[in-house]
Amino acid sequence: MEIKNKCDIVSDLLLGYADGVLTDTSKEFVSSHIQTCDKCKEKLSNIVSDIKAEKEDSQELEIDYLKNVRKKITKKNKFIIIIGSILMLVVTLNIMIFINYNMNANKIEVFLKDSITEEEMKEIKNAILMQDSKAEITYISPEDAVKNAIQTFENAGYLEAANGFNIERDKSRFPASYKIKTKVENIEKIEHVLMSFEGIRTMRSSTIIDPYLFFINRLSI
Ligand SMILES: [Zn+2]
Repeated sequence: MEIKNKCDIVSDLLLGYADGVLTDTSKEFVSSHIQTCDKCKEKLSNIVSDIKAEKEDSQELEIDYLKNVRKKITKKNKFIIIIGSILMLVVTLNIMIFINYNMNANKIEVFLKDSITEEEMKEIKNAILMQDSKAEITYISPEDAVKNAIQTFENAGYLEAANGFNIERDKSRFPASYKIKTKVENIEKIEHVLMSFEGIRTMRSSTIIDPYLFFINRLSI
């Protein structure tokens, strides 16, 4: 009777004992009892293993949750990286198109008289640079002009016409010229300034209004 009563008391205390929340007196009472009572000892070991299993379960749940969160973050990151890359590509392509356009789409060709002096050629260059200090000025000699003509026919597939040229013989038929690359807004100003030069035979300017069209044309060449 006394023993059975002790077992009931210990049974009530076992959970607290396993959790380690008992007072020292209760703890001593339980531990001395389970040394002599196999039934209570077994109950305790069951409770301990139950608690252990519960803890592991909750840990696993936590890990699953963390894995899910990480997966979601990774997916989000991938999405952000892809969208970011596309945006970067579009921006870069547009910048390239506009740089290319501004550098190359607008040009003035200034054909020079054979009688032009070196002094006047210098003055023409300076007058252009006064309007646009970043203008790209290329001198094209009569020989270069013949070569360009040959190249043009070759590129177009008219090899017969290309072969019909002779640089030494034909250079007298081609004028020297300046090719000026500038921004579209400078073309009119530059043409106006150059009108007063005696040594200029004629001028020709070309602009392409649509940067994208210009870019596509260049790609297809
Ligand atoms: Zn007992």
